[in-house]
Amino acid sequence: MKTFKLCILVSLAVTAYCVPTAQVTVEEENFAESYLKKFFNLTDETDPTIGRGINPLTWKLGEMQRFFGLQITGTLDTDTIAMMKKPRCGVPDGNIARFSTFGRNQKWEKNSLTYRIVNYTPDMSVPEVDDSIERALQVWAKITPLRFTRIHSGTADIMISFGRQQHGDYYPFDGPDGTLAHAFAPASGIGGDAHFDDDETFTFRSNTGYILFMVAAHEFGHSLGLSHSNDPGALMYPVYSYRNPDTFVLPRDDVNGIQSLYGRNTGKDPSVEEPEPPTTPDACDSSMVLDAVATLRGEMLFFKDNVFWRSFPQSRTPQQSLITNFWPNAPSNVNAAYESQHKDNVFIFKDQKVWAFNGYDLVSGYPKPISSFGLPKTVKKVNAVLFDVESRKTLIFVGSEYYSYDEARETMDKGFPKQVDQTFSGLTSEVTAAFQYRGFTYIYSGPYMFEYSLRTGRLFRVLRNSYFLPCTNF
Ligand SMILES: [Zn+2]
Ligand SMILES: [Zn+2]
Repeated sequence: MKTFKLCILVSLAVTAYCVPTAQVTVEEENFAESYLKKFFNLTDETDPTIGRGINPLTWKLGEMQRFFGLQITGTLDTDTIAMMKKPRCGVPDGNIARFSTFGRNQKWEKNSLTYRIVNYTPDMSVPEVDDSIERALQVWAKITPLRFTRIHSGTADIMISFGRQQHGDYYPFDGPDGTLAHAFAPASGIGGDAHFDDDETFTFRSNTGYILFMVAAHEFGHSLGLSHSNDPGALMYPVYSYRNPDTFVLPRDDVNGIQSLYGRNTGKDPSVEEPEPPTTPDACDSSMVLDAVATLRGEMLFFKDNVFWRSFPQSRTPQQSLITNFWPNAPSNVNAAYESQHKDNVFIFKDQKVWAFNGYDLVSGYPKPISSFGLPKTVKKVNAVLFDVESRKTLIFVGSEYYSYDEARETMDKGFPKQVDQTFSGLTSEVTAAFQYRGFTYIYSGPYMFEYSLRTGRLFRVLRNSYFLPCTNF
């Protein structure tokens, strides 16, 4: 019996309400059930941790939604199905936490480890596979005392192989997409080993297929004792996302995780300057300056660095995702974004380019130069863009001025640019982001957010950038 469509109180922090569920097919229900069995320990037996009278499926669905920062509905909604269909690692997701480990005693008791590449994928050349594996191990060696030596015969600590479907353990692969690889926690025997699903197309550098270096670097995190993190910017996040292997720097969350097991790299050459590990923006940071804000079909989107938060009107927990997880073709560290009320598109601005997305898809012909909006060629970047429901115009903020763009006629309005503080009182420094939401215009400037009445234009309150992002550290 499946009761996904039940509206049920899943978490005490969330009031029960019904969200319109997409039509869920029987295939999708079965798929969801096997996903929860595989990754969230849904079993056919009674689980004593689940309260009586609560359907275990609904409970586990809520657990999964909480892990991924989705709206906790306990129902199989569109976002949840989309998250389940993303390519990912085959190791189950356990704790809802920033970095986590398999346990303090599940680590190697030595710093010198061996690895062996048992076989190769036909997708790439032998030197490309060798290079990807070597560099993926170095990601971890750089910041710990761990050292890796390759052997060509016999049993290594980390045995690396490619296989399809049933491949000699109890965890068969699943054909193209879905599970990409899995690895075992430190132990003798199969412990530490990493298996890659050869029904995937692995690649060295291309944008099509999965970058072997990225998948391997994640798996070796497991080989060394890390389990999954729910930090969407972390390498140990269970879902695959494209990143440039040539500029990849291990994020702070993963550095903290591995150093909690093995300590720092004490043999580092102090003259070599290493790039600072990137941190994922934190909603609890009251000094945060957002890059851009926009609406999307009734939700609010807040952009910062390589991530954005989506805030649902009914929920107090905004979901944080990597921008590239949602829009693989989008840039990071954007300048501005807005939802067009004229076309069903979201526009994202960075430097002198603008991207248009319809749903997940890049609209053909984009990115275009920002001069396609009629901005002078001297404009090197825009600061913020919002759609004004009163005038039905798109306001484009550049420096201390703003322009008014008529989407219907695709022309810039006459009489602009105007000074920002002429219209929006109190705004004396540069605008950083802007949008309208439920009867108010919000203009962001540095760490502050100015709230104006849409009807009268009066300044009501000055708040922090993080105002709409309730701080929900687990
Ligand atoms: Zn994993
Ligand atoms: Zn395996």
